[in-house]
Amino acid sequence: MSTKSPISAIDSGVGLHSPEVFRLLVDTVEDYAIFLLDPDGTVRSWNAGAERLKQYKADEIIGKHFSIFYTPHDLAMDKPGHELRTAGETGRFEDEGWRLRKDGSRFWANVVITRVRDENGNLIGFGKITRDLTDRRHEESRFRLLVESVLDYGIFSMDTGGHITSWNVGAQRIKGYTAEEVAGKHFSMFYTEEDRRGGLPEHVLRTATEQGHFEGEGWRVRKDGTRFWASIVVTALRDEDGVLYGFSKVTRDMSDRKALLEELKRHADELELRVQEREQSNAELEAFAYSVSHDLRAPLRAIGGFAEALLEDCAATLDQQGREYLDEIIKAVGRMNLLVQDLLEYGRISRINLQSVPVNLSDAVHDALRQLGNDHGGTLEVQVAPDIWVMAHQQALAQVIFNLLSNAVKFHKKDLSPEVTVRAEAYNGSIRLSVTDKGIGIASQHRERIWQVFERLHDREMFPGTGIGLAIVKRAITRMGGSCGLESQVGQGSTFWIELPLTEPETEKIDTND
Ligand code: ADP
Repeated sequence: MSTKSPISAIDSGVGLHSPEVFRLLVDTVEDYAIFLLDPDGTVRSWNAGAERLKQYKADEIIGKHFSIFYTPHDLAMDKPGHELRTAGETGRFEDEGWRLRKDGSRFWANVVITRVRDENGNLIGFGKITRDLTDRRHEESRFRLLVESVLDYGIFSMDTGGHITSWNVGAQRIKGYTAEEVAGKHFSMFYTEEDRRGGLPEHVLRTATEQGHFEGEGWRVRKDGTRFWASIVVTALRDEDGVLYGFSKVTRDMSDRKALLEELKRHADELELRVQEREQSNAELEAFAYSVSHDLRAPLRAIGGFAEALLEDCAATLDQQGREYLDEIIKAVGRMNLLVQDLLEYGRISRINLQSVPVNLSDAVHDALRQLGNDHGGTLEVQVAPDIWVMAHQQALAQVIFNLLSNAVKFHKKDLSPEVTVRAEAYNGSIRLSVTDKGIGIASQHRERIWQVFERLHDREMFPGTGIGLAIVKRAITRMGGSCGLESQVGQGSTFWIELPLTEPETEKIDTND
């Protein structure tokens, strides 16, 4: 509140309790219009604030009726008369509304009219204090307009009992009711019969009252009876003293999202079913391949054995061509043996329990190197520190590394001996073991399929093999909780890598009885 220093009046020697000081104070207040009315509403005094707010000078207004400040609309409803009557009967009247300045412009006023009586209780007039709240009003109406125009959210307010007190266009759009249709109605009208019976609307208001707000999703009913999936937030509205005076409710129609999610879930379920079916048929096929391979071994051994016996015992009675045919049979038996062995190995790796334990990586690499032997005619460089431990199955890991090594030395360029490097490095909390060769490389379009059984890119004469080695690598590594991949450039070489979780060696158990 700014004043034209009443202190100077006090300084000038007037007593603090004198009515004169009080009058001076009121006179100089600028933020409030403070003036007196006689019992019929005629203006009897005028302060600086009243002059500033309403633009009348004291001599222009004193003696005039206070209804001069009211809009024609309020006058038509005899608002001034009503206000004085109420203040006369109850002692006080408070209101907010538009009032007029001298130039006819409006301001939003907060008005308090207080009854003034003499010692005998006779009404001698009214005190009137008016504040200009136009700025706040604009702020509020801007906010109200904003809320009212929001289309995507249904926003409405309720009294403490859940009866609707305001309604925006979003709410109308989502629920189908106009503001008139819902005014004063209970918000449970938007709930389904089941939810109403289950006491959900009461629960919502109770939770909002106790916890400040309630958030949830559920089915709600439109005016036309159709349902929509709503996401709602109900907030308790409290005044400065913390007294609850109502609730606000924001509703969003999530039906589209819900339908989308359901569709997605349906697809996911379907996919899961397909995967299950496929896994089952894969498992059946693998079991079949395993038993066929197993059963092939005996006749294969017989064919090989008899072919060799024929070559050794009856060589003299065979001509050159006959011996060549026998050589071919023996070679084919050898290839088929390899195939059967690899198939059995693939089946075994798929079925046995590959329980992972801490395995020393360097030991596994050296196991694989021993299996590989020295016949490859190339150079092998190993850069694997001796103290790296990974979670793996010892034997399966050695087999995986062996498969990668044997490919790396096999697919070398013609006339160049193999050069292979085995390296281990920490990678994203795992250990990545890579086998790099300077061989023929793999074109990018084949890099996916070579991990599948029987997928080979090269002529068997040039690069013998069964096409099962990488399938074993992938299956074993996946089952051990790791991953594998490759980088390659045609004509430059390839790097095949596997990744496994890094771990610590198992600490030896100390026998505490010693
Ligand atoms: P195999 O080696 O018995 O043919 P794999 O399953 O081990 O079967 O490999 C599948 C195919 O992937 C090979 O036939 C070959 O075409 C390709 N391949 C694998 N490793 C390499 C490599 N280091 N360099 C080039 N090609 C490779």
